[in-house]
Amino acid sequence: ARTLEGKTALVTGGSRGIGAGIVARLAAEGANVAFTYASSKQRAESVASAAIEAGGIAHAIHADSMREQDVADAVTATVDRFGGLDILVNNAGGGVFKAIEDLTMAEIDTMLTVNVRSVVVAIRESLPHLGEGGRIINIGSVNAVRNPFPGLSVYAMTKGAIASLTNGLAKELGARGITINNLQPGPVDTEANPADGPNASNLLTAMSTDRFGTVAEISAFVSYLAGPDAGYITGANLNIDGGFV
Ligand code: NDP
Repeated sequence: ARTLEGKTALVTGGSRGIGAGIVARLAAEGANVAFTYASSKQRAESVASAAIEAGGIAHAIHADSMREQDVADAVTATVDRFGGLDILVNNAGGGVFKAIEDLTMAEIDTMLTVNVRSVVVAIRESLPHLGEGGRIINIGSVNAVRNPFPGLSVYAMTKGAIASLTNGLAKELGARGITINNLQPGPVDTEANPADGPNASNLLTAMSTDRFGTVAEISAFVSYLAGPDAGYITGANLNIDGGFV
């Protein structure tokens, strides 16, 4: 049986990488899935058609996580289209990896805005629609906990903020039957962090497995956390990291 039949999910940043995998998996489990993208329109449309061809329901929404109004409108568009909202996955994000002296204000602001501020906005805007059994799943990073190499500081700070936000909100949402969790991936093979990229061998030395994680492995964990069996997990920072931490 499909575990998310009848549920509606909104995934931010679903056009590529981990987010695209999450869209595919949640749709395969029977959820109505809306997802946002900023630049990759064609890719987003392909993600939606692939999910539909596989027997699911998916819908791409242009929404730049840099803009508060776009994020709020994406929540409204999801509710208008599917009649409610049960699952919010905050995945959109990224990093500029440099020594702190080399980071420009624009790079710092982009990381803070997309990785942190847009998550707060998406949660705030989604909460009026989430009821008993609601799920919020943030995609943080193991870099919130461990940074074996230089150049990660501000990115790590943004993901640390997500861990703290998750912790604080669990208490606020628990009595409403809504869980919130922070999934912290280690290195996962995507365009942002290719398993055959220049940093890969360095990263592998910091891990227990001899390979990167896959988008499918992260998506399966998100699907579990979104489902009915995970109602007793909340406020948790959950590493899925090949032993990185
Ligand atoms: P990718 O760069 O492969 O994909 C990023 C996705 O986020 C794209 O769909 C992109 O959409 C979207 N996105 C980026 N900026 C915005 C924005 N301003 N507004 C809306 N959407 C946006 O990244 P990953 O899949 O690798 O990473 C996904 C998440 O996982 C991030 O939060 C990242 O920090 C986290 N993570 C990744 C790890 C890894 O090793 N890959 C490890 C730990 C955490 P578009 O192309 O349309 O802009």
